[in-house]
Amino acid sequence: MERTEVIIIGAGLAGLCCARRLAESGVRFTLLEASDAPGGRIRTDLVDGFRLDRGFQVLLTAYPEARRVLDYEALDLKPFYSGSLVRVGSQWLRMADPWHHPLDALRSFAHPVGSAWDKIQAGLLSLQRTVGCGAPTGPRGESTLAFLQRRFSPSMLERFFRPFMAGVLLDRDLGADRRWFDSLYRLFATGQTAVPALGMEEIPRQLAAALPRGSLRLQTRVASLLADTRQVRLAGGATLQARAVVLATDATAALALASSLVPPMAFREVRAWWWAARAPSHPDPILFLNGTGTGPINNAAWLSTVSRAYAPPGQALLNVTTLPGAPGWDDPAAVRRQLRDWFGPISDDWRLLREDWIRQALPVPAQLQPRFEGRPARLAPGLFLAGDHHATPSINGAMLSGRRAAEAVLQEFAATPQTGELW
Ligand SMILES: Cc1cc2nc3c(=O)[nH]c(=O)nc-3n(C[C@H](O)[C@H](O)[C@H](O)COP(=O)(O)OP(=O)(O)OC[C@H]3O[C@@H](n4cnc5c(N)ncnc54)[C@H](O)[C@@H]3O)c2cc1C
Repeated sequence: MERTEVIIIGAGLAGLCCARRLAESGVRFTLLEASDAPGGRIRTDLVDGFRLDRGFQVLLTAYPEARRVLDYEALDLKPFYSGSLVRVGSQWLRMADPWHHPLDALRSFAHPVGSAWDKIQAGLLSLQRTVGCGAPTGPRGESTLAFLQRRFSPSMLERFFRPFMAGVLLDRDLGADRRWFDSLYRLFATGQTAVPALGMEEIPRQLAAALPRGSLRLQTRVASLLADTRQVRLAGGATLQARAVVLATDATAALALASSLVPPMAFREVRAWWWAARAPSHPDPILFLNGTGTGPINNAAWLSTVSRAYAPPGQALLNVTTLPGAPGWDDPAAVRRQLRDWFGPISDDWRLLREDWIRQALPVPAQLQPRFEGRPARLAPGLFLAGDHHATPSINGAMLSGRRAAEAVLQEFAATPQTGELW
């Protein structure tokens, strides 16, 4: 039987960050990944020369763990405009972040997306979060929706906050704990929203490239786990044993491998529609939001305007995101009708490259009870858990949970030095 010090199951961001931290401490590990590349939910596919992320995803540059771990310069991050274009009636109205684009924000004061007072409130909220004051008040466990209803007019909520936050939380009901909303709002205010020039998969690629040669095994699915003896059986039949096992899979796979230790979980789902066009409809790298409350589309963005490399020369790439609960969210004809309404007959020429239906995009419990420092990673002696479901449902949460799991392993090793057996 093959032996190593630590087995990590799953090479999403959590598993990769766990591996990175163990490598820093000189601990030998094997990272087992079922699919053909590291990255988990963050992958980018080349389709006809376009770079299609698996679902619309962005990096908030203010994520503390991402800043610690990633080399932003090497990722060649391309920022979005800090604000959005909101569809109201038959117009696009610009909402700008007052701290990033003060002049644009002033111009938006008279727009019928909320009142002037709403915009002052929104600016104050982001200032409070930026300087770290104005700690959340209101009932414990309050939802994001209840908080926004308390603080803003119905017009500001329905035209701006609902589509904007629904796109982030993948939930039109905005049921997430408002502390999670607060944390996200602060991150939006204090940094940029960006994608790596060559697609989101550059993030896990960078992490994987730094691991010791041979430590990552792709297309290696773990079929079962014997927690007591820290043995894993691979789908191919081989068995591996280690001093410690870190379960860094998505929540569903974690439940299948350790059903007595991991609770069942519900997920948010989403559809991403990728359209090829000859040219973008708008010159800015900006998010389009549906403030009309009708039709399937929640948000859209020309990714090739954010980063040229998302589309081949002379072409443009549009992402459209639809969420469950919106009429026609799963109907390509309904999506096309709304694109025509928004962008005109030119959109008839746009070609649907791919539709992604991501059924398990974000774990719900992590939204309802976000754990900003991660939960205790140790499930049992020699068995550890990592993943966004164990922290916050985000790139940052996954990365942090991975590091925390590695540190818990190191702590256990320090407390129980191994004698005799050679791992
Ligand atoms: C559409 C979408 C949009 C999102 N948008 C954002 C965003 O804009 N910003 C943000 O911060 N976050 C966003 N997220 C969330 C973010 O992508 C995730 O929180 C994060 O990638 C989760 O990483 P993870 O390592 O916890 O899990 P995963 O990425 O799910 O990784 C788990 C890994 O385990 C592997 N695995 C599973 N079972 C086995 C097995 N038996 N044997 C071996 N390997 C196994 C899987 O193949 C996978 O590689 C989005 C997610 C989605 C899907």
